[in-house]
Amino acid sequence: MSGVVPVREGLFTADPPRLVGSLCDACGGHHFPRHETCPYCAADGARPVELSPTGRLWAFTAVTAPPPGYRGEVPFGFGVVELPEGIRIVTRLTESDPSRLTPGQPMRLTVVPLHADDDGNQVVTYAFAPDRGRNDVADPIDEAAR
Ligand SMILES: [Zn+2]
Repeated sequence: MSGVVPVREGLFTADPPRLVGSLCDACGGHHFPRHETCPYCAADGARPVELSPTGRLWAFTAVTAPPPGYRGEVPFGFGVVELPEGIRIVTRLTESDPSRLTPGQPMRLTVVPLHADDDGNQVVTYAFAPDRGRNDVADPIDEAAR
């Protein structure tokens, strides 16, 4: 029987798309991927939390040659998105053309197909997509016309 499987268990939920990180009660720091021990203050007992599904694009590029072991399509977008929690997520991007991306633009989490595994399952992973709706709201030309 085939189905849809995450590229790695425990990284994200698919419906709705949310990254599963952790929160340290000792220092208030968020982490992704989740850690039991806080990488900032070394306290134990960081608990799993769903992270914000929106953020801002911090860095980006296109991967044009498949990395070792990678079975999906190229090119694909790859970059860093900063979440409101103050952490930066290394992530796949749905946009593979860097000329169509702008630093600081709003981004939204989604779940995308990656490849089919040997059992015929569709392997999915998380990615950030340009958040067009929010971009429209924040468009400086619209602001100036008011
Ligand atoms: Zn901590």
